[in-house]
Amino acid sequence: MGSDKEQEREIAELRASVQVTRRATVAALEDILYSPQPVLDRGFLRVIDYMGDDGAIVQAARVSYGRGTRKINEDRGLIHYLMRHRHSTPFEMCEIKFHVKLPIFVARQWIRHRTANVNEYSARYSILDNEFYIPAPEQLAAQSSANRQGRGELLEGAEAARVLELLREDSHRQYLHYLEMLNEDEGGATIDQGRSGLARELARMGLTLNFYTQWYWKTDLHNLMHFLSLRGDAHAQYEIRVYAEAMLEVMRRWVPLCHEAFVQHRLNAVTFSAAALAVVRRLIAGEKVTQEASGLSKREWRELAAALGLSQ
Ligand SMILES: Cc1cc2nc3c(=O)[nH]c(=O)nc-3n(C[C@H](O)[C@H](O)[C@H](O)COP(=O)(O)OP(=O)(O)OC[C@H]3O[C@@H](n4cnc5c(N)ncnc54)[C@H](O)[C@@H]3O)c2cc1C
Repeated sequence: MGSDKEQEREIAELRASVQVTRRATVAALEDILYSPQPVLDRGFLRVIDYMGDDGAIVQAARVSYGRGTRKINEDRGLIHYLMRHRHSTPFEMCEIKFHVKLPIFVARQWIRHRTANVNEYSARYSILDNEFYIPAPEQLAAQSSANRQGRGELLEGAEAARVLELLREDSHRQYLHYLEMLNEDEGGATIDQGRSGLARELARMGLTLNFYTQWYWKTDLHNLMHFLSLRGDAHAQYEIRVYAEAMLEVMRRWVPLCHEAFVQHRLNAVTFSAAALAVVRRLIAGEKVTQEASGLSKREWRELAAALGLSQ
């Protein structure tokens, strides 16, 4: 994928070039344009391009001839209204393009979000770098007993050390086998002139899922928020959630009013079912409601209690 120095030089060159444009730009996003924001141990996220700003949402909602912006408070009110009432198409008028470096097992979750345009680094064409994700010790947790999809208590001492050793050894060994099968070193030079080497598209299959891949990922603001509401949630796996958190920070720079409305009405909001709302009404009226008398399942009851901050 080129040396780090070469990549740094290319990024510096891009950042040094300034274009004059009549299009809307956002100073806070321009500040980080092209710059990689570190994520996990060797990953990153960087903004490559974007279209639109908070004003573009307002402009589209009003189908206006000018920039669409009136007073900031009117714009804020309108954006909050659109978010609250799921008037989503004005948000689709803004687009953003990321370059992401991420472990393959994170990419498998990420690619399930189909409403984006993706182009991934080709390991049929190029040799993958010897770069794999090793969790930080504070992420080495046991399987959760309460949630089949989650993590529980942290592993400690000898068990944690052994897990890290196994992960490192397996990844390293698989990479050495990968190069041996290719009959190429990391720089692409032939190791043994007497062998032809296996095709890149086949040699890669033995690599572990923690190897890093890279892609360009472009989406509109509406679908970005859908992604963030699922992957920025506490139930999402930590390794994808940290990318969502980095993107949420990008969104805060890019469309601050929309970010504020999104955090308020989507990310930190709760939806009640009709039955849960009936329970809330009974609680507000001063009634003592039990799970058995609530009409909710045990799980729904637990979720409602957690949302309301009630002890069960
Ligand atoms: C915490 C968590 C756990 C998960 N666990 C699992 C799991 O165990 N197994 C698993 O397989 N997946 C799992 N997923 C993935 C999940 O089921 C979704 O595939 C993923 O979140 C993408 O969501 P999406 O389809 O809404 O997004 P997108 O693909 O971006 O689609 C956005 C919206 O567009 C519409 N849409 C897009 N394509 C179609 C289509 N072809 N037909 C109809 N409507 C469409 C839908 O309304 C959709 O909600 C999990 C996701 C999360 C967040």
